[in-house]
Amino acid sequence: MNATVAIIGRPNVGKSTLFNRLVGKRLALVDDTPGVTRDRRPGDARLGDLRFTIVDTAGLEDADKATLAGRMRKQTEEAIQDADVVLFVIDARAGVTPLDAHFAEVARKIARPVILLANKAEGRAGEPGIYEAYSLGLGEPVPISAEHGEGLSDLYDALREEFEKLEAAEGPSEEAETDIVIDPDADGEEDDEPAGTVDRPLRVAIAGRPNAGKSTLINKLLGEERLLTGPEAGITRDSISVDWVWRERHVKLFDTAGMRRKARVQEKLEKLSVADALRAIKFAEVVVVTLDANIPFEKQDLQIIDLVQREGRALVIAFNKWDTIEDRTEVWTEIKYQAERYLNQVRGVAMVPISATTGQGLDKLMEAVFDAYKMWNARVSTARLNKWLEGVVAHHPPPAVAGRRIKLRYLTQAKTRPPHFIVFCSRPEQLPEAYLRYLVNGVRETFKLPGTPIRLSFRKGE
Ligand code: GDP
Ligand code: GDP
Repeated sequence: MNATVAIIGRPNVGKSTLFNRLVGKRLALVDDTPGVTRDRRPGDARLGDLRFTIVDTAGLEDADKATLAGRMRKQTEEAIQDADVVLFVIDARAGVTPLDAHFAEVARKIARPVILLANKAEGRAGEPGIYEAYSLGLGEPVPISAEHGEGLSDLYDALREEFEKLEAAEGPSEEAETDIVIDPDADGEEDDEPAGTVDRPLRVAIAGRPNAGKSTLINKLLGEERLLTGPEAGITRDSISVDWVWRERHVKLFDTAGMRRKARVQEKLEKLSVADALRAIKFAEVVVVTLDANIPFEKQDLQIIDLVQREGRALVIAFNKWDTIEDRTEVWTEIKYQAERYLNQVRGVAMVPISATTGQGLDKLMEAVFDAYKMWNARVSTARLNKWLEGVVAHHPPPAVAGRRIKLRYLTQAKTRPPHFIVFCSRPEQLPEAYLRYLVNGVRETFKLPGTPIRLSFRKGE
């Protein structure tokens, strides 16, 4: 595999300097005048044992009016098209400028993994900029100094991780009939555009233990007055994925039951179905975990829910075979009670009673799927987060550890899909586990993110 990596960013952030550093030659012209680098020229780059093609670009200039800027933007767009991975560079000394923020928005929408680089980070002058960079929503910034060659091992780690994902994606394709299929986007989290835009279908997996009713559910979803598309339409039993349209929205359904039957391994069925589930979960953006309402929250159900949570996918729980439940009020009360006990990590998750045989509740189920997807993509502004944090600090500050107060300084959302927040604080390693849960639950409730897996990380910040 020879990956192509594009460097993008506004003028003067150090793209050419980085290009030169990686190529090891003074190919690109470096100049203090903004926008001096004009051409997109590929170079053979090396970083440790990584070899790749690197493309330097003009800044992502927005002004189409000027022909030069327009041309530069076009070049950048072309570079992104050809790239497997994009390096988005900002100038840590200058901080995040409105132009950076604007292009970050563009970068978040491209269907490519983006690594955020905070350049000019040598010394202390870059610290505030690194801090601000989190708010771009492109994940953790990697501080580097292209000029001084600092931070390159962190860049190496970030690149290697993306290359490994690409290599995994080059495995068996979906056309392969007999074997396990790896979706190219399988573990792409932030690296693809939101479903529902353009015509990329929403990827939904139907997971659950054997006999929960997954196949019945899929057949019912596909069967009724709904438009089927794609070559596999209608043959759910054996197919791994089915393209389907629900209320004019494209959905790609993954059937874990189909996978299981394909594997043709009868022994260790229990273990196998968890492996199936994991595979489907990795494919999916939203996972519908199907439980049998007669025997909900079995060990295996909880294992699957836990996998969804750990993989950071959006979750909806379907309580199937609702047609067989006699005292529905009582059973539902009991289910809600048990949910509080078992589903603490995904508090407020959508729970929908359904009957796969009668079709009852299936529209509600799909509505819940799209709602969960929306929350999974949610973005909370840094301003709102910090306003909330001020209140927390005033009324429920972290406890003192060894006689010293831990100070919470700043809160920002670094990523979506699922929402990932970063808290800057003094001595993060000493924050008690219970306090972390308190913060997660606070964020969940305040910013209306019920049921979504939430990531919260701590960074040291003075
Ligand atoms: P480009 O327009 O994004 O390609 O930026 P250049 O690579 O031309 O760099 C713009 C200016 O920033 C030049 O004066 C570089 O010497 C300077 N520069 C690039 N990288 C660094 C760095 O890591 N630290 C510092 N302090 N300056 C840098
Ligand atoms: P899978 O192993 O999860 O794919 O489960 P199946 O779809 O094969 O269903 C297992 C059994 O449960 C079959 O006998 C289905 O007919 C039955 N079943 C599935 N959904 C329902 C339902 O909503 N109500 C009732 N009464 N039976 C169901």
